[in-house]
Amino acid sequence: MADYDTVLVRFGELSTKGKNRKDFINRLFRNIQYMLRDIPELQYQKAYDRIYIKLNGADHEKVREKLQKVFGISSFSFTEKVDPDMEAIKATCLRIARESSAKTFKIIARRHDKTFPLRSDDINRQTASVILKNTDLKVDVHEPQLPIRIEVRQDAAYITSEKIPGAGGYPAGINGKVLLLLSGGIDSPVAAYELMKRGLNVEAVHFASPPYTSENARNKVLTLAGMVSEYQGRMKVHIINFTDLQLNIYKTAGDPYAVTLMRRMMFRLAERTALNNGCLAIATGESIGQVASQTLESIACINDAIHIPVLRPLVCFDKLEIIALANKIGTYETSILPYEDCCTIFDPKNPVTRPTVEKAEYFEKMFDWQSLIEQAIANEETAVVQPPQEEESFL
Ligand code: ATP
Ligand code: MG
Repeated sequence: MADYDTVLVRFGELSTKGKNRKDFINRLFRNIQYMLRDIPELQYQKAYDRIYIKLNGADHEKVREKLQKVFGISSFSFTEKVDPDMEAIKATCLRIARESSAKTFKIIARRHDKTFPLRSDDINRQTASVILKNTDLKVDVHEPQLPIRIEVRQDAAYITSEKIPGAGGYPAGINGKVLLLLSGGIDSPVAAYELMKRGLNVEAVHFASPPYTSENARNKVLTLAGMVSEYQGRMKVHIINFTDLQLNIYKTAGDPYAVTLMRRMMFRLAERTALNNGCLAIATGESIGQVASQTLESIACINDAIHIPVLRPLVCFDKLEIIALANKIGTYETSILPYEDCCTIFDPKNPVTRPTVEKAEYFEKMFDWQSLIEQAIANEETAVVQPPQEEESFL
């Protein structure tokens, strides 16, 4: 077996970020250590364009699975670290070739240390010729079954025959803070994941309508928040009591405009909460056309109530694509638990699909929503959730 002892982490997208590069790498370095926190044997080293993780016998599968969840990594490889000299490099490559059942190979060398006496091409040629002489493998430069990569650095050479795709994106938290409207549904936890992938730190706001919504519904939202918080470390969840606003809306506007008004109020509350907590935008799990409140006309009318930017990462996703992502991040089974949401209990029979701002404002003039908003904001509760603990960490 190849004796992989070091993981080499690459981060393509960051390289383009010029002067912010240092912040990016530092954040990625911290995020990687956080994600791998349950594996104490690991040792980390940061270089200009790579991060190295010494395995010290840690379980490869576990490291692989966790690293694939860290945003900002373009790819990574389990490598053998050897002395930066040609004899050691050739011997290791030959051993990897002998252990493989592949018929074709290619050597892909990169010389980062320009003082190394051979150029990349010469490293390729010399190493390939040893393999050609001592095995039955043939060179295939286009589609090799066994690509062997060599990175020559000053202190060591890293040799690997696999390159594992990373999650891409930016290190979570590097691009500022956004407030996500988090329901107990399928979509908004997936929206959280997509926002974090773009390097945003996600804080959440949830609207609960007790006693019409239960403690179970509230706990479900906190569980979902905990699940997605894995990608950024922890998550703040603001819980806002929506009951009074909701009852007043139904009393005043009646059926068709209730959803429009409810969502305009949710956006106003979210805008206030965002500004109070240093978030420069709010975000939702909306997707065009999915329900009556997500037609373009509805989105325009609801958005008209506020000034802060609204990010909608799922706006063009199909429901099936969203469900596939929910399964991938593990939130789907929790999302479909049948606890009532504040939107579902007051579910109107004939929601308007083409609301207008004039009509919405006409209904809003009929009750003192401003005071109800002040009250709701004043009584907000905040919880901080963390990813579910792994059982081994208690041992
Ligand atoms: P989801 O599956 O995310 O609940 P949905 O398809 O059920 O979405 P709606 O319920 O109309 O659609 O909600 C659209 C978006 O509004 C949600 O993605 C979420 O961002 C926000 N939202 C809805 N209900 C709540 C709530 N009770 N608290 C906070 N945000 C909410
Ligand atoms: Mg919903």
